[in-house]
Amino acid sequence: MKTVAIIGGGASGIMAALTAAKDKENRIILFERQQRIGRKLVATGNGRCNLTNVGAELKNYHSEQPEFAEFALSKFTPQDTLDFFHDLGLLTVTEYGGRVYPLSNSANSVLDVLRLALEKSGVELRCSCPVRELMKSGKGYQLTTDEDKVYADYVIVACGGAAGEKLGGVNDGYELLKPLGHKRTKLFPCLVQLICEGDYPKALKGVRADGKVTLMLGDEVLAISRGEIQFTETGISGPAAFDISRAASSQGEGATIYMDFLQDYACASLEALLLKRQENHGDLEASELFTGMLHNRLGRMIVKYCGFGATQPLSSLSREDIAKACRISKAFPLRLKGTEGFANAQVTGGGVKTTGFNPETMESWFMPGLFSCGEVLDIDGDCGGYNLQWAWASGYLAGRLGK
Ligand SMILES: Cc1cc2nc3c(=O)[nH]c(=O)nc-3n(C[C@H](O)[C@H](O)[C@H](O)COP(=O)(O)OP(=O)(O)OC[C@H]3O[C@@H](n4cnc5c(N)ncnc54)[C@H](O)[C@@H]3O)c2cc1C
Repeated sequence: MKTVAIIGGGASGIMAALTAAKDKENRIILFERQQRIGRKLVATGNGRCNLTNVGAELKNYHSEQPEFAEFALSKFTPQDTLDFFHDLGLLTVTEYGGRVYPLSNSANSVLDVLRLALEKSGVELRCSCPVRELMKSGKGYQLTTDEDKVYADYVIVACGGAAGEKLGGVNDGYELLKPLGHKRTKLFPCLVQLICEGDYPKALKGVRADGKVTLMLGDEVLAISRGEIQFTETGISGPAAFDISRAASSQGEGATIYMDFLQDYACASLEALLLKRQENHGDLEASELFTGMLHNRLGRMIVKYCGFGATQPLSSLSREDIAKACRISKAFPLRLKGTEGFANAQVTGGGVKTTGFNPETMESWFMPGLFSCGEVLDIDGDCGGYNLQWAWASGYLAGRLGK
């Protein structure tokens, strides 16, 4: 009988454990530093758990070596994730953008079926048991916990990343792998709220708008995204903000965010619409210029930004004023100040260098029997179920223990 030690009871570690447990010759021990397994999992998707995305492709993943993810994603596809969970009894729904959620709308359902499967499979769970040290020992490895030392023939490091500190995001995985020769890249928070200068976001707090977001450094476009923008006390959040947060974190110093709230309207046709409104409703106040087109607080904010008096009549605006309002509504600028950091990030950009691992097995190239999976590796996905898909797919490969 071979002992398989899995460090980390999150999405990827649970998947690795269930996969390894299919071989009854294996004794599987799952170490989890927190009191319970899957703490982060139950917080995903705002408590709904966006467990995969049916459209997941390599282009949704980022890394110094993004192609590393290709084999895993083709070997364990979103359909395999769905089949896996349906077999465990989970019902799912696929929503807008290919995002998959449990039908119950509760992330607990996902963890519940995984927990039942773990119980049935005979995996030994050791919660509140952080692994402090990992060393080579004979043909296998020695793990040191606060209570004992455990020998394992195979070790799977599935400690996750530094993101989501309150939910257990730590640097342990990087630290455990370092003495075994596995280096990491620079780390930065991704899928995280953006902090902006000025009072505009605060005044718009709570407003949601659909739009196109462009992050620019001087004349250089760093990132573009489309989708929902949510204004917060300090900046912007929501899928469109999340999707540019990787670039904002890694290259965004001194950058500006431009938001187009009327992306389906070319400037000329929008200008024509606004001129028509002015012609038909000249007696309205300027603050009503965008009423019916945009969230009213947002419309008023654009008017204010343009420097028009809120109560001056629409008829008093010049042609240039209208052109300016049109320009600003399609490129509302906010200076980027930073991000909310690892504490509030959903995923870690960067991680343990993938060049040290075999993409077909997740096994270390130079430490036989040592595997790694999930977020601890230098792979991060877009917002929309892609990160959990990576966790399931890479966890599945690691759990096969090289077979
Ligand atoms: C708020 C939030 C919402 C998210 N929503 C989504 C979503 O809807 N869809 C999506 O695809 N992704 C989402 N993500 C990202 C996704 O949750 C992660 O990418 C995914 O959980 C990574 O899985 P993992 O197994 O690699 O790491 P984790 O799930 O973080 O699990 C790692 C586990 O290892 C344990 N551990 C760490 N060190 C040790 C040690 N030394 N010894 C023992 N145990 C250890 C940790 O306590 C943890 O339980 C979200 C993340 C956050 C924070």
